[in-house]
Parts: sequence; C-alpha cells; structure tokens
Amino acid sequence: MHQLTVSLAICLTMLPSSVSAQSSIPSWCHTLPRPEYKSLARVATSDPWFEVYKPASNVFAIYEPHQAEEVISYLIVGNKRALLFDTGMGISDIEKVTSELTNLPIIVLNSHTHDDHVGGNWEFSSIYGVDTDFTRKNALGSREDAQAEITPDQICGSLPNGFDAKAYTTRPWRITAYTHDGDRFDLGGRTIEVIATPGHTPDAISLIDRANGLLFTGDT
Ligand SMILES: [Zn+2]
Repeated sequence: MHQLTVSLAICLTMLPSSVSAQSSIPSWCHTLPRPEYKSLARVATSDPWFEVYKPASNVFAIYEPHQAEEVISYLIVGNKRALLFDTGMGISDIEKVTSELTNLPIIVLNSHTHDDHVGGNWEFSSIYGVDTDFTRKNALGSREDAQAEITPDQICGSLPNGFDAKAYTTRPWRITAYTHDGDRFDLGGRTIEVIATPGHTPDAISLIDRANGLLFTGDT
C-alpha cells in the first residue's frame, strides 16, 4: 500500500453511503477516506471500485479504497503518450478507467511486482519490466496471493458487480521490454526517469519527473 504524498487542489471526497452503512466492517475501513485526500481534486469515472484524484497537472492517482492494500496506480500523461505506473489489484477494470482519462497510447511500468501492483498488467500490450528473476517469476501470475487479498477482513464495502471471487487470480503478463536505472521515457513534453530503488523488492523502482518536481515511489 502507499499514500499520496503530493497535495493540491480542492475537492472533498466521501465513500459511497453503502460502504459506511455496512454493519460489520474491518477496523482499517473505519478510518477511510484518509483525511489528507480531502484536499485533492477528485476526477469522476464510471467505475465505483476506483477513486481517481488529480494530484498534479496531467497526473491521475487511481486509488482502490475498498481493499486493504489501498493501492494507488498513477497515470502520468504527456503530449504523445501516457505512462501507467502500476495497474492495481486486477479486481476491477483499470484499463477501462485509464481509457476514460486519456486517448493516448499507454506504456506500463511497475513500481515492483507484488500482486497488488500488477493485477491489470495483462490488459496492456506494452509492459516494461526490471531484469530480475523476481520479476519474471511474478509475471507468471499467482492465485494464492490474489485469493488472500479478498478475505472478508481485506474488503471495505462491496466487490464490483459480477466479480467472480473463486476465479480471482493475478493473471500472467508478458514483459515486452526491460527497463534499467537511469532510463528516460519521453512522453511528449514530459520526461520520466527511472531510478532503481531495490529494497522493498529486488525489482523496486521509483520514477522522477524532474521538471515538475514529482517523485513516484510505489511502496518504497
Ligand atoms: Zn509491495
């Protein structure tokens, strides 16, 4: 899990009333929404599984508040293409959400390949991976880790309509290219640089947007 560290703008956010009305909810769920998010601009999308915020210009934080990891994936948009930093749980359709936020082609990088950051990777065709055995193993997918994420104590509110809990798995994905420390991705009018930050996992990376003063750290 991680928290937004960039703050900006305006909009007050509330969980849907169906969530607060639940009778037996896990304790972590009582403290949501996190107070620091109330200062962020909220962006409407069609999928209630996600809450989307705009912490900086052309940056969207795609938050999954109904699962205990509270994972946040970041869509960073340039003039020619966009970079999606993590793809969340794979519980709902993150590709559909990103398509509502940009029409540009999307490349995916992962802050690391724990299951809660790669769940939607399979939906995308351009995935940069870090050249480690850890990454290659996780790209094979996993059912066990995914199933542990949806036990009742891990869910706050409702799973998406039509979600098949028994079939839930982290689906495998194809690494289409490798990325390394110091790589620069030109998104058109915006350059994103990769910084290797191994520790949380062997393949952990952070992204820096120097011109805009933004650092994306994943779980690091
Ligand atoms: Zn992690």
